[in-house]
Amino acid sequence: MKIILIGIQGAGKSTQGSFLSEKFKIPYLSTGHIFRELSKEKSKIGRYIKEVMNAGFLVPDKKTLKIVSEYLNRSEYKKGYILDGFPRTLSQAKEFKNGIDKVIYLRVSDKEALWRLSYRNGDDNREDETLAALRKRIELFHKFTEPVLDYYRKKGVLIEIDGEKPIEEVNKEILKGIKK
Ligand code: AMP
Repeated sequence: MKIILIGIQGAGKSTQGSFLSEKFKIPYLSTGHIFRELSKEKSKIGRYIKEVMNAGFLVPDKKTLKIVSEYLNRSEYKKGYILDGFPRTLSQAKEFKNGIDKVIYLRVSDKEALWRLSYRNGDDNREDETLAALRKRIELFHKFTEPVLDYYRKKGVLIEIDGEKPIEEVNKEILKGIKK
């Protein structure tokens, strides 16, 4: 099973992604995590990605597609995966030729996401989680990622979930949506 998780930062994608990964015994991967690892490299590409991430901008589509395709070609992802953070633009969605079963959209308001993230940042600060970067990511979500939701809605694979409900309820709603 190939599942995509979409939502603004703080929507609970990694929590739900880990849960689904355990439930269906398929690996979870997030492009944010892949890029954070790459940004640690002391190479030209590493420095470039670090700069883009710290500003809250998006890594260009071509680079993103290349990196994601390379990852998904690995044998561990052959049977399926839970993919978090990709696609984030319409062009990424259209170019992605991997066959998707379901796309789960965890919907939370900007206000709720910012509140959750400021709380989370209390004890675990991440270099790319400054308030300016978070606001930029939310702005880019509305501009570039919302069209991706429409794209999958029209294809009939989008499951929309109220991500502001308690974690367990969100779990249940997702499973219900997948079984439909
Ligand atoms: P995330 O942890 O998903 O919020 O991702 C952190 C950062 O990684 C983003 O702000 C982008 O700079 C980059 N990133 C992650 N996924 C993508 C993507 N699909 N397209 C472009 N940039 C991405």
